[in-house]
Amino acid sequence: MSKRVAEALFPHITKTYQDYEALYPARAEGTVCTRFAPSPTGFMHIGGLYTSLINDLFTRSHEKGVFFLRIEDTDQKRIVENGVSEIIDTLNAFDIHFDEGPLNEQDDNGAYGPYRQSLRREIYQAFAKYLVEQDLAYPCFCSEQKLMEIRNQQEQENALQKGYFGKWAVCRNLDEETVLANLEKGMPYVVRLRSKGQEGHSRVYHDLIRGDISMQENIIDTVIIKSDGLPTYHFAHVIDDHLMRTSDVIRADEWIASIPVHVEMFEALGFPVPNYAHLSPIMKQEPKEDGEGFSKRKLSKRKDPEARVHYYEEIGYPVQAVLDYLLTISSADYEPWREQHMDAPIFDFKLDLTKTGVAGALFDFNKLNSVAKNRVAHMSCEDICQAVKVWAARYDEKLSAYITADPERFLRSIHIWHDKRLDVAKWSDLMEMYPYLYDPDYVPADQPLPEKFQKHLEFIPGILKDYQQTFDYADDGSAWFNKVREIAPKYNYAVKTGPYKKHPELYNGSIADLSSFIRFAITGRLNTPDLHGIIHIIGEEEAARRIQKFAEKL
Ligand code: GLU
Repeated sequence: MSKRVAEALFPHITKTYQDYEALYPARAEGTVCTRFAPSPTGFMHIGGLYTSLINDLFTRSHEKGVFFLRIEDTDQKRIVENGVSEIIDTLNAFDIHFDEGPLNEQDDNGAYGPYRQSLRREIYQAFAKYLVEQDLAYPCFCSEQKLMEIRNQQEQENALQKGYFGKWAVCRNLDEETVLANLEKGMPYVVRLRSKGQEGHSRVYHDLIRGDISMQENIIDTVIIKSDGLPTYHFAHVIDDHLMRTSDVIRADEWIASIPVHVEMFEALGFPVPNYAHLSPIMKQEPKEDGEGFSKRKLSKRKDPEARVHYYEEIGYPVQAVLDYLLTISSADYEPWREQHMDAPIFDFKLDLTKTGVAGALFDFNKLNSVAKNRVAHMSCEDICQAVKVWAARYDEKLSAYITADPERFLRSIHIWHDKRLDVAKWSDLMEMYPYLYDPDYVPADQPLPEKFQKHLEFIPGILKDYQQTFDYADDGSAWFNKVREIAPKYNYAVKTGPYKKHPELYNGSIADLSSFIRFAITGRLNTPDLHGIIHIIGEEEAARRIQKFAEKL
């Protein structure tokens, strides 16, 4: 092919290969440059968050690093309104920091933009023009119908390799006059790479995670420019990652099989090939339908709520817990590091890509909750207070009202469950686990009476009455408990549990039973954090009201 065809295809393209090379110069010597390149197709998948986190961490693990965001919006049918803001907001919410890229739906920051592929149409076309001039690409006029015929023919012949290549690539050898005449007639076309690969030739490609991978070199005349003038993913990746000077392409492993075609394109264009690292997806394990064992599949946006990044936000997992969790399940050396550095920022972790698994991390809610509980346990009460406030304002009206009514009381209430326990994983746990602190509509007396109270029924009203009579809100924890103890002998309850355990037949019960009546009356639970503390959060009157109500119900 020739300059004439290139000119006929792209008459409006005036900038050249060299112009763009000059416009986007190499980055400073030794710079590690990575990117996250999502399509703005709606809310982000947890896999996208994971990929961006790994890119960010990898970049920060190097002395000189640039991490940028690129929006891949060439598939016009799939993009959604405000899709770019959705991505940016999600990354910001999860503390993923990018140095260059779109700032909102319109503006970009950085010298290597535009960072949205739909605005780079002319750049792709300039390089497609260059390839056509060099006879390394050609226009293809095959209709959908024609391509289908080729596929059917290949099926019939049982061809080992299918696709548009070699003898099947009918437009590959059209003569120049026919091409020009077709263009003149306005026939629709795509532009294809003229592959130099040979069937059966394999080549070793390197992946930073998987090491050397031997694959057949590319032989397909892959489409580079679609009939709408926009590039395919493959071509856009090669042009963008070269011009934006990406040194390390870290992306999902669904692209592994495309390495040969990408490498061929880099080489055809005379560009250096970047390093590649392909991340395994997060998987879900499920019992097989026949009940025999388990099967693994990728987390699906359609089937699994936990596939949506917003899910974590909605139910209130702290951001750091989600990030901790993603690295815990995917990176073998993260958990030991985290145990040693519980309070260190996540970005202090030096990521070693070879330690990210090849098998695909398994999503596990128990693990998520245990990582999150650990994270919450290491947050300060002040930080928790702030995080819950922000969360509740969006997702829990009742809790939000509780916090706003008395922020100082809310902070004190956090100390009650946080100081000695490790049981809150997410902010939505608060209402569920501690309704007696936070839910004004919660009535402890409505809880089913514990079975073990049955044999004490005749004593409980008297005990509660005595408790109320001696109760003094000003007492500290030990004075309060001493008074509770003093009630015991009158009802023949053992003041200490030791003697009771030795001779239970001598008593009606022990101090532990007696305390549990008071605890249950106030909280509707048998097991709670420090009861004296709880009373001082809910207040004297409320505690008295609850005891009264419980006694009435007996
Ligand atoms: N837009 C592609 C995707 O979302 C990007 C893949 C890549 O990182 O190169 O799958």
